[in-house]
Amino acid sequence: MKTITILSGKGGVGKSSITASLAIAMSKSRKIICADCDVDASNLALVFGISEDSFEEWDLLSTNQKAEFDLEKCNSCRQCVETCYFNAISWVDNKPKLKEFGCEGCKACKIVCPKDAIRLVDVFNAKIGYSKTKYGFTVVSAQLTMGESGSGKVVSEVKKKATLLAGNSENSTEIMLVDSAAGIGCPVIASVAGSDFVIIVTEPTVSGFSDMKRALEVVNHFRIPCEIIINKFDINMDQTEKTERFAKENGIEILSRIPYDKAFSEALVNMTPIAVHEKKYEKLFDDLSEKLLFDFR
Ligand code: SF4
Ligand code: SF4
Repeated sequence: MKTITILSGKGGVGKSSITASLAIAMSKSRKIICADCDVDASNLALVFGISEDSFEEWDLLSTNQKAEFDLEKCNSCRQCVETCYFNAISWVDNKPKLKEFGCEGCKACKIVCPKDAIRLVDVFNAKIGYSKTKYGFTVVSAQLTMGESGSGKVVSEVKKKATLLAGNSENSTEIMLVDSAAGIGCPVIASVAGSDFVIIVTEPTVSGFSDMKRALEVVNHFRIPCEIIINKFDINMDQTEKTERFAKENGIEILSRIPYDKAFSEALVNMTPIAVHEKKYEKLFDDLSEKLLFDFR
């Protein structure tokens, strides 16, 4: 199975809309599965018209731990408070007390505690689920619990679950489309790692250009081939040309230029991918899919 990851340096550039329509186009000739790895703000399933309560399954997920104190054993030495880099321990009535949402599960307090009064316990920090779309393929999704950390590991679990489901298909799944989180943080690195190909979605703005270059650094780090889609290319032609010049100088192909069109917003409101909502975009995404599949022959 080949993995194609759709990435953007900044949010709001249309990454999930593009992923959804590309998935529909690819599914016409290949068996695919989608992994929504934007676990802080997952919305790929919604673009396909699937609400949270119509998922086939939700499981609690634990990819993180938190410190727990046995105050009977504690001798009030304060070493844990002084050691915690994340300032996650407060001092109440001469004893340590964990701050809700502060602990990153790094174990440093446990290591320094002279009384073995601290243990690390698993916490459920996300839920993970999947659902069949009305377009015939499955989408796997996860949602990080508010205030919890460990999103990179949650992304890895989403990819693992998608791989498992892909293996269970009657005929083997050929392509996994990964909708990455935006930015360059931990969940993005977990999304990009192990991919066969990356598509960077950008828009022609100063911040879009700068964030695209940062996203490219992550992709280059893993030496993964990539191409660029310029979304809303006609809102700023000077910036679009700058992006194209940059791509040419760096040997990166522009996979597609998509115009600004309020039909994209209408499609989102109707929970329908743009390739289904508007006929002319069906052709655009069919062509895009054909080009990608040609590269994967
Ligand atoms: S496990 Fe790490 S983050 Fe959590 S309280 Fe201990 S030192 Fe702080
Ligand atoms: S390091 Fe251990 S003994 Fe010292 S204050 Fe913290 S929990 Fe108590």
